Amino acid sequence: MKKKMALLNSVIVVLSFAAAFLLCAFQVNSQYKQEFMNRLDAVLSLSALATGQMEQNPQQTAQQIGGALQKDGQQVRISIISSSGRVLGDSEKKDINENHLSRPEVKQALQMGRGYDLRMSETTHERYLYAARPVGKYIIRAALRTTEMDNVMSSLIKNAGGAMLIGIFIACAATLSMVGRMLHPLQELTDTAEDISHGNFASRVAVPNTRDEVGRLARSFNRMTRSTENAITELDRNQSRLKSLLEGMDDGVLALDLEGRVLFFNERLRTLLSCPGLRVGASVDSSLVLSHVSGVMRQAVTDGQPCKKQIAGVTAGQQFTVYAALVEGGGSVLAVVSDISRMKRLEQMRSEFVGNVTHELKTPLTSIRASIELLKSGDRDEQTRTYFYDVLDMEAERLQHLIDDMLVLSRLENMREDTSAQPINVEETVRDSVERLNLAAVQNQVSVDFKVDSELYVRCAPTRLEQLFTNLIENAIKYNKPGGSVRITGASQQKIAVIRVQDTGIGIAPEHIPRLFERFYRVDTSRSREIGGTGLGLSIVKHIAVLYGGDISVESKVGVGSVFTVRLPLAHPEQKA
Ligand code: ADP
Repeated sequence: MKKKMALLNSVIVVLSFAAAFLLCAFQVNSQYKQEFMNRLDAVLSLSALATGQMEQNPQQTAQQIGGALQKDGQQVRISIISSSGRVLGDSEKKDINENHLSRPEVKQALQMGRGYDLRMSETTHERYLYAARPVGKYIIRAALRTTEMDNVMSSLIKNAGGAMLIGIFIACAATLSMVGRMLHPLQELTDTAEDISHGNFASRVAVPNTRDEVGRLARSFNRMTRSTENAITELDRNQSRLKSLLEGMDDGVLALDLEGRVLFFNERLRTLLSCPGLRVGASVDSSLVLSHVSGVMRQAVTDGQPCKKQIAGVTAGQQFTVYAALVEGGGSVLAVVSDISRMKRLEQMRSEFVGNVTHELKTPLTSIRASIELLKSGDRDEQTRTYFYDVLDMEAERLQHLIDDMLVLSRLENMREDTSAQPINVEETVRDSVERLNLAAVQNQVSVDFKVDSELYVRCAPTRLEQLFTNLIENAIKYNKPGGSVRITGASQQKIAVIRVQDTGIGIAPEHIPRLFERFYRVDTSRSREIGGTGLGLSIVKHIAVLYGGDISVESKVGVGSVFTVRLPLAHPEQKA
């Protein structure tokens, strides 16, 4: 910019100088020419007086006039030319043979009475200004060397050239310094703008303390930068808020452009769809489940309205809902992927539960109704009636158990924390349970013994802890073999009370273990029912253990026996709620 302006200024200076010089040179030249022409006219007029002399000896006359003029300091060449163009006399050269009729000044003189020409002499090879006029039968021609005029012109050219160079130098220097001063704020504006374009929004222009256009521009620029910085900060804040919102979501979010390339996704989506290789800018056909999601998104684009579908996940039982909709403006499409596997599982469990409860209630009810029908139909002997009354009694008790267990389970499920919990001695509770089950053990020919650390305490509601041990020990007796044994041990391990109920019973096959603590799950349904089981015992045990901050696990071998291990946080005997 600076260089361009300096160059432009130089060109203007050169052109102005050249125009001024040409005008000046033309003026000087034409003035000189006029002056020379006047002098030559005067010489011709004087020479015309010597016509008589000319006729006698034109060569001599020419030399005499030329000589006389030279004496007066006038270096004028005089030629006397006949009307046929022959040079009869010349003050500077004799015997000139060329015909002069074609000379422009001679031609012009013959036509118009006077003629002039400025040219290089073919005879003397010098520049002359010629003037000619017819005098009688002759043409007198006077010529002046233009050396003086040429010298003046050449010195004029030299001086003008020098002046022009100095002018150019001064103009360039002045322009460069002026342009430099003018461009400095602009340069600063450019630097700051570049700085801002590289992301440094805090960059500002040093505002010159002036009220001119540059000062105003700098102030406006800074104001504009400040508002841009504020807008960008706000935008960044909103974006990070949006990002943390999206990252904190329990659902996966995916945005694609209309060519199917990934614009955005949150980490949850990667985990949900098990696609660690997902990248922004990549296409989504890399995984099967992703291509299902993009299929729903394509559908939303084609229909021009939101689309909702359920798709299967990578692992068995995994189910997702994909809700896809075009983003406002139509340049991209957004999908929200929700994991509904748990919901589906719960739905399934609920319907299974309803089915199980119905079934569990129906079995004793059918038996009760059948017994009543049989009692009503005809006379029955005492023994038969007693048998049916026993059946009725047994089924009513079974129903009672079932309802009791369901109520306990429902209460436990609705409980988040038990405020009535207190330190309970584990040994005493185990002893109570064992005593309560003594009769059942004798009936099943199973021996029960226990060895629990007498200082072992856990925080629990007393009835619940007893229910936990009763259920486990009862199962260990029920699913045992005649002559088998049950052993209960309890000790502390790293601030945890570990209680084991070990039996030498029928054992549990490994495929049943994962579902063992589910409600109504039984390994052998008919045997469980036969011995009065409800299928809710272990589920109650697990809920009690979890409610008091513990857990339960099982190890078993078919035909050898099972070990149920309960872990509960240790409590201090004096520890109050
Ligand atoms: P139930 O009322 O049928 O005993 P539980 O929930 O207590 O219900 O137990 C679920 C199932 O687990 C039982 O039906 C039984 O098949 C199995 N089971 C529980 N404890 C034992 C054990 N100690 N030995 C073998 N099988 C057991």
